[in-house]
Amino acid sequence: MGAPYLEIRLDIIASNAQAIVDFCGSFGVEVWGVTKGCCGMPEVARAMLSGGVFGIGESRLANISRLREAGIDVPFLMLRLPHISEARSIVEAFDMSLNSEIDTIRALAAEARAMRKRHGVILMVDTGDLREGLWPDRVSETARKIADLDGVELVGLGTNLSCYGGVIPSEANLGLLVQLARQIEQEFGVKLKYISGGNTSTLPLMASGKLPAGVNMLRIGEAILQGTESIHRTPWPGTRQDAFVLHAEVIEIADKPSVPIGERGQDGFGGCPVFEDRGLIRRAIVNIGRQDVLVENLTCLDKGVTILGASSDHMILDATHALQPLNIGDTVSFNLGYGAMLQAMTSPYIEKKPAP
Ligand SMILES: *Cc1c(COP(=O)(O)O)cnc(C)c1O
Repeated sequence: MGAPYLEIRLDIIASNAQAIVDFCGSFGVEVWGVTKGCCGMPEVARAMLSGGVFGIGESRLANISRLREAGIDVPFLMLRLPHISEARSIVEAFDMSLNSEIDTIRALAAEARAMRKRHGVILMVDTGDLREGLWPDRVSETARKIADLDGVELVGLGTNLSCYGGVIPSEANLGLLVQLARQIEQEFGVKLKYISGGNTSTLPLMASGKLPAGVNMLRIGEAILQGTESIHRTPWPGTRQDAFVLHAEVIEIADKPSVPIGERGQDGFGGCPVFEDRGLIRRAIVNIGRQDVLVENLTCLDKGVTILGASSDHMILDATHALQPLNIGDTVSFNLGYGAMLQAMTSPYIEKKPAP
């Protein structure tokens, strides 16, 4: 197969999942594997499930359809707030969803009643990251409205951190979530099944022994797919960071200056790049670009080769100090961060090659 292609090591995803499931399990926390970073690739979901995740979290209907069509029949959780216009499909495809808007929940309830189903609702609380979620003082009144609805069941409270605002999960913000859940339980005489304490970024708090008691579910994508925590992006103990490797082919190699010649305006993407004069260097061009991948999020795995930059279709490398001299037609390999992985998975121009 010709490059560019994305190699996906399913054995690593499975063993990463197992490491996270075991770790969280020792704290009484259930792990839901999140496949949205891989566009809901069925092979990736299967690898996560074989590593022991309880269910699959997804952010898009198209991805869940892909998983269902592949015959994967496990509990599914919708991560992005459902949209009213697709309430029917959401209830059809997902067992539960994260929610913050009562009008949407009412629409889900109506569809669930029509289908004679019961849809689980995890009410999202904004504990400070300022993405989705009810402001804490609104949780009780919304829970009361849900209690009056047939077709939906309030199965828990949840929060999401470190995504928009970069707020780090703490005893304070997750403690608030637990406190609100206990309040709801008392007020309504119910037992909430889930207190969903966030994503990969909650793992370090757990490791420090400071996860507030009561948090019993996490929704984990990055730590399983990338083997990193998401606050400082350090490797997570017991996981590997090389489940995804991008391969591209060298289409030009030449000795040229390191600084462009002539009067300069904007580059192809509206930027005004600065160039360091390193004299004459060996420049290699490979057949991927900004249309395929978040270039700044790549690391070249070929020793001594560095990324200089890219346009839509061309990525330019400095191969002057390549340990293994590069030739035309050679394949160069790259490690991808979460953003680069997400974009490469989404690019129709990059072939995906899952390997057992
Ligand atoms: C994407 C997402 C997750 C998973 O986040 P990771 O950092 O990849 O673990 C969890 N919850 C919600 C609501 C999400 O949107």
